[in-house]
Amino acid sequence: MILPIVGYGDPVLRKMGEEITAEHPNLPEIIANMYETMYNACGVGLAAPQVGLSLRLFVIDTTPFSDDEELPVEEQEQLNGFKRTFINAKILKEEGEIWSFNEGCLSIPDVREDVYRHEKITIEYCDENFVTKTEVFDGLVARVIQHEYDHIEGVLFTDLISSLKKKLIKKKLQNIMDGKSRPDYRMKFCNKKGR
Ligand SMILES: [Zn+2]
Repeated sequence: MILPIVGYGDPVLRKMGEEITAEHPNLPEIIANMYETMYNACGVGLAAPQVGLSLRLFVIDTTPFSDDEELPVEEQEQLNGFKRTFINAKILKEEGEIWSFNEGCLSIPDVREDVYRHEKITIEYCDENFVTKTEVFDGLVARVIQHEYDHIEGVLFTDLISSLKKKLIKKKLQNIMDGKSRPDYRMKFCNKKGR
């Protein structure tokens, strides 16, 4: 089932996600719905708070990035079919060079900004079968994980830009809160009713 994506300004995007147990009700269904919602919106990642669930859960499929012919072939291959569910993730280490990439977010339509992040991460997480893994990722895969991980920590990419850039997008963010954006996927806006 495709779920509405929560827009910028909703308090759920600012909450720390709660840890999930293997007995969490309807977990396989929640995960399946999150993938469906992400694919429908042409996203490469989606975190539970973005569908109104304050949980430490996010899903990723970086395949759409693999078409970028400016990337090295090895990176294109790494991105193609990289589909992963992250439960109770914890980034243990961020290292390597800081590099910028123009990021966007399904909860913040029509806003894109260059965001600086470390090149390489070590992350511990449970997969959808609750098998604990510790893995190292780099490049764009790491970037997408870092963006989604921020969501379960209550952080948005617009928090990571300069105060001047924040000023420049203020109006756009207000428009999203007021429900004035019209992306081609279903959204839920915090101020839409009663204003
Ligand atoms: Zn996002």
